[in-house]
Amino acid sequence: MHELELLVALHVEAERQGPGSPDDTRLAAKLAGITSDGLDIVDIGCGTGASSIELARDFNATVTAVDLFPQFLSRLEQQVSALGLSDQISTVEADMTDLPFPDASFDVVWSEGAVYNMGFTAGVAAWKRLLRPGGVMVISEITWLTSSRPAEIDEHWRAEYPEIDTAPAKIAILQENELSLRGYFVLSEAGWEEHYYQPMEQRLDDFLARHSDSPLASEIVDGERREIELFRTYQDYYGYGFYVAALDTD
Ligand code: SAH
Repeated sequence: MHELELLVALHVEAERQGPGSPDDTRLAAKLAGITSDGLDIVDIGCGTGASSIELARDFNATVTAVDLFPQFLSRLEQQVSALGLSDQISTVEADMTDLPFPDASFDVVWSEGAVYNMGFTAGVAAWKRLLRPGGVMVISEITWLTSSRPAEIDEHWRAEYPEIDTAPAKIAILQENELSLRGYFVLSEAGWEEHYYQPMEQRLDDFLARHSDSPLASEIVDGERREIELFRTYQDYYGYGFYVAALDTD
């Protein structure tokens, strides 16, 4: 198996494919002013759709759930039909760098733990055209929480994701794109631990056993274990920032 297939195999059975939680999703929705008026939301890099389901169920939204990997979308579709949400959630297999929607298609552009795949700056610039006037963008993005930090964690994340930065720098990028901050908060620890890392840790041994012939699988597991350990050591220095910003109406 190639690396991407292995990563999909490791993550497809998870509740979430990145840090996040139902409480954090709800808080971001409140900051975004999402009411129960049946808004049109696109969830970009939805994975198996934890946030898509939350937004449809709790906020009566109509959600277009987009991901590059059909395996994640199939899993979401199974859940959607089991939950009776087929009228509200539809899936679209697409690349976030080239989304097949006309301008001004949505009230809300939503993306949790996914924009790093194209980079925050490029993502914000590319996705704002999807918003209707007065629309809101909600993005979670890895963020430095302090202005300086130990070299080990600084070097790790700069190598993994050179765009990692502080919240003021991210907010400035939003402003350059005519998006004014409506709210910001740091993802809860539960969003990392209970909803992402701990369930992943429980799957790692089984994943290794199923792919015992693959050196790549053990490299992936080593990488995940290292990331978890770094988080537990250095979580005071970085987190996931939730950015909620509204398109300026000038
Ligand atoms: N939002 C989900 C998943 C986050 S993980 C959650 O919070 O649980 C990042 C997601 O981005 C994965 O599902 C991955 O398949 C998707 N992804 C990666 N590259 C992509 C691309 N180029 N276009 C669309 N989705 C992509």
